[in-house]
Amino acid sequence: MLNLDHHPTGRHFLQIPGPSPVPDRILRAMSLPTIDHRGPEFGELGLRVLDGIGQIFKTKHPVVIYPASGTGAWEAALSNTLSQGDHVLMFETGHFASLWKKMAARLGLKCEFLSVDGTDEYLPNAKGWRYGVQADLIEARLRKDTEKRIKAVCVVHNETSTGVTSDIAAVRTAIDAAGHPALLMVDSISGLASVDLRHDEWGVDVTISGSQKGLMMPPGISFNALSPRALDAMKSATLPRSFWAWDEIVEMNKDGYWPYTPNTNLLYGLAESLDMLLQEGLENVFTRHHRWGAGVRAAVNAWGLPIQCADPQRYSPVLTGVITPVGVDADALRRLIHKRFDLSLGAGLGKLKARMFRMGHLGFSNDLTLIAMVAGVEMGLKLSNVQVAGSGVHAIMDYFADHHQKMPAA
Ligand code: PLP
Repeated sequence: MLNLDHHPTGRHFLQIPGPSPVPDRILRAMSLPTIDHRGPEFGELGLRVLDGIGQIFKTKHPVVIYPASGTGAWEAALSNTLSQGDHVLMFETGHFASLWKKMAARLGLKCEFLSVDGTDEYLPNAKGWRYGVQADLIEARLRKDTEKRIKAVCVVHNETSTGVTSDIAAVRTAIDAAGHPALLMVDSISGLASVDLRHDEWGVDVTISGSQKGLMMPPGISFNALSPRALDAMKSATLPRSFWAWDEIVEMNKDGYWPYTPNTNLLYGLAESLDMLLQEGLENVFTRHHRWGAGVRAAVNAWGLPIQCADPQRYSPVLTGVITPVGVDADALRRLIHKRFDLSLGAGLGKLKARMFRMGHLGFSNDLTLIAMVAGVEMGLKLSNVQVAGSGVHAIMDYFADHHQKMPAA
């Protein structure tokens, strides 16, 4: 049973790939008194966060902010642009792509799921869950759609269930090469503010994201970044929508307000998060995540355990999935590590249940925190009698020592 009175000494190591640890600066900002959401100060706050979030998505077009988790923003993207029976092309990269597809089907869309099929030496029937989106398969499918029935291509940028980051610019190129008018919708719930994302430049029509990953915020805010084509599609889309409808929100956002009561205190936190990220500079944020990912992978390689992502070009800078040897229950391993070292790791989801665990390396972290995470996992592996080839702790220390990241001037 959950014991809320149990407070282990020291701080908890929240190393799941989101929600990620919330910086004290953000926690303090959220503790300001709640203000009138129709009053003048609120309008200023609204305009400030709307301007800042546009810079993070790299867009000049509207970004809709919802008081909801990422799942709500998935539904918003589909229901604002599509109609009952519309055909959508999705790509099976993992558990989150599968959940989004399930939602699309429940909303009455006809979903086609492309995947890299075949069996895998480590994970039977989950081969596609080790690779990113294959843009050439999307192009080939769109070329066959001579009647242009497919209304949207939906892909996950950073598949949080596997640790694979897909090439979104390549998907846009594939759609254009096929001369197809389908909208491009991208789930970057765990990519935004950790991995390079260029909503306008990459020609994305709706980018979906959430607060609890790279933005270093608690869960509870999600986003739809829009393109002019998406706003146009809204005019003829007939899927039922009310709370999610973009039109009223975009209109009221012009003055920094919302048509309903927004989550004021989370927006204080968002303003702080945007200041932190923009002061650091997005390019520095991306470099930091790349370096962390490489350091953690050096540790996994030293252990001799397979990384869930089988394509080194698509390794995620946000998290690393580690496949446990056959017969080693990854959930039991995670439970042991949690109990002994107060360290939370991500579980294997869906088809990957108990076969792998996920190490988050995103957001409010630093070299020593990640070394501690690796130490906790290494101790857990040894306590579980998993033979590791070498020391991951030494490998990550060496990597970080040899790859110094120059921090921006304060
Ligand atoms: N998509 C991805 C890639 C995710 O990582 C998550 C959550 O972790 C979701 C969608 C669902 O978002 P939420 O749990 O905030 O509703």
